[in-house]
Amino acid sequence: MKILFVASELFPYVKTGGLGDVMAALPRAMRAQGADVRMLLPAYPAILSAVEVQGSVLALPELMGGGPARILRAEAPGLPLYLLDQPAFFGRAGGPYDHPSDLARRFAALGWAAAHLGRQGDGEGWRPELLHGHDWPTGLMPAYVAYGEGPRPATVMTIHNIAFQGRFPAALLNELWLPRHAFTPEGVEFHGDIGYLKAGLRLADRLSTVSPTYAREIQQAGGHGLEGLLAHRSDSLRGILNGVDRSIWHPARDPHLVCRYDLKHPSRRGPNRPDFQRRMGLQEDPAAPLFAAVSRLDPLKGLDLVLDNVDHLVSRGAQLAVLGTGDPHAEGAFRQAAQRHPGRVAVHIGYSEPLAHQAYAAADVFLVPSRQEPCGLTQLYALAYGALPLVRRTGGLADTVVGVTPETLAAGTATGFTFETASGWALGEAINQALALFREPTAWRQVQRRGMATEFGWEGPARAYLDLYATIPTKGA
Ligand code: ADP
Repeated sequence: MKILFVASELFPYVKTGGLGDVMAALPRAMRAQGADVRMLLPAYPAILSAVEVQGSVLALPELMGGGPARILRAEAPGLPLYLLDQPAFFGRAGGPYDHPSDLARRFAALGWAAAHLGRQGDGEGWRPELLHGHDWPTGLMPAYVAYGEGPRPATVMTIHNIAFQGRFPAALLNELWLPRHAFTPEGVEFHGDIGYLKAGLRLADRLSTVSPTYAREIQQAGGHGLEGLLAHRSDSLRGILNGVDRSIWHPARDPHLVCRYDLKHPSRRGPNRPDFQRRMGLQEDPAAPLFAAVSRLDPLKGLDLVLDNVDHLVSRGAQLAVLGTGDPHAEGAFRQAAQRHPGRVAVHIGYSEPLAHQAYAAADVFLVPSRQEPCGLTQLYALAYGALPLVRRTGGLADTVVGVTPETLAAGTATGFTFETASGWALGEAINQALALFREPTAWRQVQRRGMATEFGWEGPARAYLDLYATIPTKGA
């Protein structure tokens, strides 16, 4: 089957979070199972300078008033690409969601280009039978398929985070090349605006999200206004857990670590800890339980609950390292916490792939106190690297971490710590539980080993997506 993924991020070229990681791994895992998956994404400078561009395959009209546009064929290692080359929209410096003045128009251009590829093919004999869009930047793609003419490829939308929905003023309808009759609740309209994610969820043939628990939550209180629509489309919606790309996230092969290790050589994990403490400016205290978080600083990530527990952690002899960027208020609060507790609390405001890898390899406890978490990748990396995740029981965190209880310890199934209520107090209780287990090295190592042995590969998820595609009736397109 010919499948076109459509996305706004692809690791290692453009990544703001888990979406970039998933886009790098999932299509390759599906190709390994024989599916002909290619990907369309904007021709960002970071991609153009890194991949092998083979030439222009398709001339396009001046999409959404953004000047000359065309589609290039390119090749990332193991993944054929189409790049929407429209320099006025995508050729500028900055992150993929910067430049708000044309955010709506440039991702409409991406959706339109995807639908066009689906209808016309690439001019070289490849025409996708299925278009698979990811998150709000691709939400209009199913609308351009539904309201356009000609053959209609099947469409699938995956929600990686329902909190980001892409809502724009109705006055843009014309500029986005959408017909008037698309502006209804059955189409792109969402509370008087144009809703990109909403349009995709209303119009795509099948929907998915990135964990079974999140799939349930977004049909209930956690749908950020889309719960009604999703409950209505429940039969078309699947929750498929993300996996871990072991070619990048494996402590035995990780080029960022001073000492590589695996389940057979766990003691080699040791030197990574003083190395990380030094890099972060923490005291090289071998006895202190080291807590770490690597996260966007966003209210939904719950890092304010960690702030509530800074003094508690320090008073119990622990260290805290936070690697994050985002909300300026949270950035300031973490900086202040580090100033208050020099050598015991350290924060790196910014994005650093090497430091993130080093944090997973050094931490004893990895904090993921999210209020909502579609799947979460950091707890999976923590498990793989032998840091015990301490997570709030929500979304994919609930599906991937087995909390320590007397029963799970006895059964040997525990892999971390969990708490329910999104409060500083509840996190504090879970921290106490982690500190208590830290004093029992044998039990600690058992939990650590179980986590490191848990496989979150991409083969199962890739199969599940192919199964989902197979449920779409053929349209004879
Ligand atoms: P989300 O996509 O909501 O941000 P995920 O847990 O799915 O959350 O993915 C987060 C990804 O971003 C992980 O690969 C994590 O290591 C990475 N990450 C987050 N913040 C930073 C940071 N400050 N520096 C380096 N990597 C980060």
